[in-house]
Amino acid sequence: SKAKLFDQDQKVKTSFKDVAGLLGAKEEVQEIVDFLKSPDKYTSLGGKIPKGALLVGPPGTGKTLLAKAVAGEAGVPFFSLSGSDFVEMFVGVGASRVRDLFKQAQQKAPSIIFIDEIDAVGRARGKSNMTGGNDERENTLNQLLTEMDGFGTDTNVIVIAATNRADVLDKALLRAGRFDRQIYVDLPDLKEREAIFKVHLKPIKIHKDVDVEFLSQQTPGFSGADIANLCNEAALIAARQDKKAVHHQDFLDAVDRIVGGLEKKNKLISPKE
Ligand code: ATP
Repeated sequence: SKAKLFDQDQKVKTSFKDVAGLLGAKEEVQEIVDFLKSPDKYTSLGGKIPKGALLVGPPGTGKTLLAKAVAGEAGVPFFSLSGSDFVEMFVGVGASRVRDLFKQAQQKAPSIIFIDEIDAVGRARGKSNMTGGNDERENTLNQLLTEMDGFGTDTNVIVIAATNRADVLDKALLRAGRFDRQIYVDLPDLKEREAIFKVHLKPIKIHKDVDVEFLSQQTPGFSGADIANLCNEAALIAARQDKKAVHHQDFLDAVDRIVGGLEKKNKLISPKE
């Protein structure tokens, strides 16, 4: 079967209320929503609308969710692809895919392009090229830079990219007129975890003994994705026992299970200890 070029969502339903916490990041992307909704307000005073913003933060903290919410709030289509999709591609395919993506997004402008894991294509060029097989990645990166320079600020396409490794990115990507805004999306603190729990508990039938504050205290270091996963896991544990609702203990059992999984994962990442 033919590989999918990229994803597009013409009618994004995600909004800022789906994104719990992240107040600072939401405030920063609100400006992008405003640009997309009323570009004239900004350009009439001679201002230049930014072309790109980079969301930086650990995995599962809601970068994709936030980018999608920007599209939802502005009521514009959302085009997305992941940098890691390019890694195994044949010569020429990456660059042409980027070209197609930008063309489509411009035809549907105002719109958002989202590039997840941009570090997979956006690593500094010419470095760590020992294997010699990085030409395709570089071609893709060059095409991306060309596209971003090619469209004017009046094009009304804003490119949002996400990474958890801003330090490895090619400096050319961070230059003015490209991804010159960096927005930090961090792991949630106690209060933010509580807010994330509330979002993900909404579709779940919970028993009245569930103590959200306590669960938030028991989950330091959890990302939003971990909490979403935890809520789902708890519901499955309760269902397996034919319960009528998900109890506090089911959540605690799910915490144990997920913490066990995370520890295993960390061990695999750092085998030194
Ligand atoms: P990655 O770097 O792994 O791509 P990401 O930062 O893009 O991760 P998302 O894909 O946006 O993370 O998050 C995965 C899921 O976790 C979301 O679809 C959502 O269900 C949940 N989630 C993450 N952060 C939040 C949040 N702040 N509020 C509510 N849900 C969240």
